[in-house]
Amino acid sequence: MGEAKRQTGRTKRIVVGTCSGCTLCCVVPAIEEFQKPPFSHCLQICDAGCAIHRAEERPEVCSGFRCRYIQAHEYGSDERHILPHPLQAGAYAFEPLDSGLMVLCVDPARPYAWKETSLVPFLATFVEAGFTLHIVDRGYNFPLRTLDHLGEIVARDYVEGARLMGKPPNIPGYIGSVRDV
Ligand code: SF4
Ligand code: SF4
Repeated sequence: MGEAKRQTGRTKRIVVGTCSGCTLCCVVPAIEEFQKPPFSHCLQICDAGCAIHRAEERPEVCSGFRCRYIQAHEYGSDERHILPHPLQAGAYAFEPLDSGLMVLCVDPARPYAWKETSLVPFLATFVEAGFTLHIVDRGYNFPLRTLDHLGEIVARDYVEGARLMGKPPNIPGYIGSVRDV
């Protein structure tokens, strides 16, 4: 997870293939080891980056994590030519090991940015291949299994759509935007 100072897509210079101060994965998910709830800043984020980046107490869930963008560059896969940097996209994708799932975690302060990027055809490829897509966005996480559903999510606001369908938020803890833009 984030190696440097928490920054935004508008202010941070992106060095291809590196986190470049993203830290989005230090905000959206819960970190049980620190009792960090979802959609909150990890208290270990500091000006120099993750304050415990090289320390033993940095949990494995952090040191072992790579979003799909970083993985693609580390492995030199063709996806590195496709995937936008999470700072640009306001979202990062990852595939839990052998799960048949693709997960997209969305920056709550920029929930629409990813829809204008190559993440959309990237995710569509996985849905077509039979993966279940989970989009984690502003307190919601629902499975999507068809291209039609993905198209609906891209066309309309995810959270507003869930509200219209009478679905309550199913990730506790989201109380509003947590990320400066
Ligand atoms: S989401 Fe990806 S690019 Fe951003 S900090 Fe996490 S691993 Fe790095
Ligand atoms: S411990 Fe470091 S890498 Fe892990 S969530 Fe916190 S800031 Fe991010």
